[in-house]
This record gives sequence, structure tokens and C-alpha cells, in this order.
Amino acid sequence: MAQWGYTGDKGPDHWCEKFPDAKGKRQSPIDIVTTDTKVDASLGPLNIDYSSARCTEIFNNGFTFQVNAESGGTNLSGGPLSNNHRLAQFHCHWGSKDGQGSEHTVNGAPYDAELHLVHWNSDLFQSVGDALPKDKGLAVLTAFLKVGKENAGWSKLVALLNKVKCKDDKCCLEAGFDPTVLLPENKKDYWTYEGSLTTPPCYESARFIIYREPVEISAQQIKTLRDLLSYKQGGQAECGCPEHLGDNYRPTMPLNGRVVTASFQA
Ligand SMILES: [Zn+2]
Repeated sequence: MAQWGYTGDKGPDHWCEKFPDAKGKRQSPIDIVTTDTKVDASLGPLNIDYSSARCTEIFNNGFTFQVNAESGGTNLSGGPLSNNHRLAQFHCHWGSKDGQGSEHTVNGAPYDAELHLVHWNSDLFQSVGDALPKDKGLAVLTAFLKVGKENAGWSKLVALLNKVKCKDDKCCLEAGFDPTVLLPENKKDYWTYEGSLTTPPCYESARFIIYREPVEISAQQIKTLRDLLSYKQGGQAECGCPEHLGDNYRPTMPLNGRVVTASFQA
């Protein structure tokens, strides 16, 4: 049985019973109130280079799909980051229907899904495991998704999802995968703040960098996410858990005086 979930007595309100960091003061996600952000026009675009990131495996972990990466070089630096970071994995959060699904919200409004590219600080730490619980350990590059036109960049990823339909299903990506194609065109405009993992153990180690421009994917493409199953091949959903993955987002957490910085003037 999973130790946590998104509904009932294992849902987000109960995470702190087993994972005390979940009641900390710099938790994620948050609602971004655009009029309360602090503009820092000196923040340039990030340097993003996934050419050395080997995305070699996709799997269904029973909460989301995850693509694991290994890298020997820098994949993310610049912008608000003073260190070099390497991609560890990426995954998504989404709704069971349109109008919900993102973890962060903008002026109270959610998007239909949210992509997280999780990077670890390779200047200060030796490995992702070492960086995971530590301040400045992680940088999470985040893109909102909304249902609209079909997205060619997403089609390759969507095709892979059919191979990891059930929990614990895994598939090797022999040709690799460059996640740059999943990002929005406008990479200059983003919000950034200091937060946490949005799933247990909710370590307060992550700087979020959240693109303002959402990425559009089609209704058929998001359906592939919603068709993923929460149970193993030949099994069934745990009691009280939905059969399909979705609504795998944590509600927004209090800001507690933190400042959200914008790289752009609204
Ligand atoms: Zn996430």
C-alpha cells in the first residue's frame, strides 16, 4: 500500500503525519498573485542545454509518468541560479478533466496540467540523492499546459506513454529524448521562488522557475495522460483510489512571506 496519495486519509492534508516537512514554511505549490510579484528585469533567460542529458527510461510510478535522466554535464544554469544543475527526471501533474490539474495557480486560476523538470545542483552536491533534501539542492523548471492545439513537440512523449500504461511499467528510450521540445517558446518570462518538493517527503530544497507562457497540447494528447492507470498489470485500483492517474496535484500552500520574483514587467 502506498504511504500517501491525493485522496482521503492519505491525501495532502495528512502528508505531514508521516512527512513532517510537509508543514514547513516554504512549501510548494503556491498561488502566484501577479500584482504581488517583485520585478527583477536583470534576470535573463536560463541557459538550457539537454544535449548531455541522457533520458533513458520512462516509467509509471502509480502517481505520474516519470522520465529518468543521467547527465555528465550542465543542463541548466543562469537566470536566478548561481550554480550549475543537471537534469534528474521529469514528470507531470494533471487533472481528470479540463479546468484543473496544475499545482501552481496564477491569480487563483489553475491550468490543465503542469510539467516539472527536476534538476540537482552539481556544483554543491555529489548526486541527486545528496542534493534532494538540502537547501539549494534542486531547481524545478516548470511549464503550465493547457488544452488547445496539437503540439508536435509533445507527440513523441505521448506515444511513449502507451508503453507505460500500468503502474511499474517501464520502457527504455534507446534513442533518448530531448525535453527542450516540451517547453514554451517564450523562455524569457518566468516567475521564480524558493519552495519544496510537491510530493512527500516535501523537502524544502527546490527553487521553482515557472514559465509565464503556457504550452498548448490537444485534447487527444492530454487524454493519453488521463488514460494511464494507477494499478499494476492484472491488478486493480487500491480501495478509494481512482483507476486512472489524474488529479495528482497538491493544493496551493501559504506563501509565508516569501517573495515571488518575475523576470518581466507585466
Ligand atoms: Zn512534480
